[in-house]
Amino acid sequence: GPNLLEVERLKKYFPVRGGVFLRPVAQVHAVDDISFAIRPGETLGLVGESGCGKTTVGRCVARLYEPTAGAIRFDNTDLAGVRGAALRRLRRHIQMVFQDPFESLNPRHTVGTMLEEPFKIHRIGTAVERRQSVQSLLDRVGLSANAADRFPHEFSGGQRQRIGIARAIALNPRMIICDEPVSALDVSIQSQILNLLLDLQQESGFTCLFIAHDLAVVRHVSDRIAVMYLGKIVEITDADTIYATPLHPYTSALLSAIPIADPTAKRQKQVLYGDVPSPSAPPPGCRFHTRCPHAADICKTSEPSLVPAAFSPAPDHQVACHRAEELKNLLI
Ligand code: SF4
Repeated sequence: GPNLLEVERLKKYFPVRGGVFLRPVAQVHAVDDISFAIRPGETLGLVGESGCGKTTVGRCVARLYEPTAGAIRFDNTDLAGVRGAALRRLRRHIQMVFQDPFESLNPRHTVGTMLEEPFKIHRIGTAVERRQSVQSLLDRVGLSANAADRFPHEFSGGQRQRIGIARAIALNPRMIICDEPVSALDVSIQSQILNLLLDLQQESGFTCLFIAHDLAVVRHVSDRIAVMYLGKIVEITDADTIYATPLHPYTSALLSAIPIADPTAKRQKQVLYGDVPSPSAPPPGCRFHTRCPHAADICKTSEPSLVPAAFSPAPDHQVACHRAEELKNLLI
């Protein structure tokens, strides 16, 4: 197909252990039957509260988790069947940027050593060429040349994320999965890092899955946005449409959490009541019905599927809500 990434009916369940022998006593349905695709060069934003399964989706795509069911196709190859050398080649083309770039890296290594590592693992270049590659990476992410000889703790949060991004782009991957890359940073620094990602994407044309809990953050970088709630995608369409004419009450609630600069704006504050229910025991019917201000009887028993919304002004808009058509002019 024309897509670089196709995720089809993906499920990822984790066992919950209990009792004296810590046997599996339940399952958390972290990702529960979701499908989406990303075109080459496109950025899909994946948004939802913590625990909605968005991080698990990213980790399945990066092959850090083995899916429970479903298919993930990258460039028309099903990732499930890939092993050995082919898997190493594939890993090179799907890279991750984490919230804390040094979570998985040795803090006693210099930045130069960390950035050189991907080249070493894939046996690319001589020692001299690798050092040159590290210098050019530092330059591309806006860090000075002497950063290579310093240690991670000597850098600010924003600079550390630049290093994380440099490592992710080192081998010129076709896809980058960003998992909350700016949520630990000050707001003023966030936009610098988002702009850096946009510039690099323009330069090298990578495809991006951008995961965040904050709709305001993904707006800057996404072509399309998918909203997740309790393991399901509840709405997906292009970024402008999500903000202008959301069709799912949950999307609308996330939008009203964004501070608005103009106090006379029409958007009404919609408060979300209650906590997110446990993904090991999601509510029956619509999973959002326990918190939805528009819930009707049918919502408690029948689960809405994600279907194309013919009544949306956007050509490519899917929503999972029984009342989406009735509500379409009420939600902002
Ligand atoms: Fe609310 Fe019902 Fe729509 Fe679920 S299906 S979002 S409970 S109106």
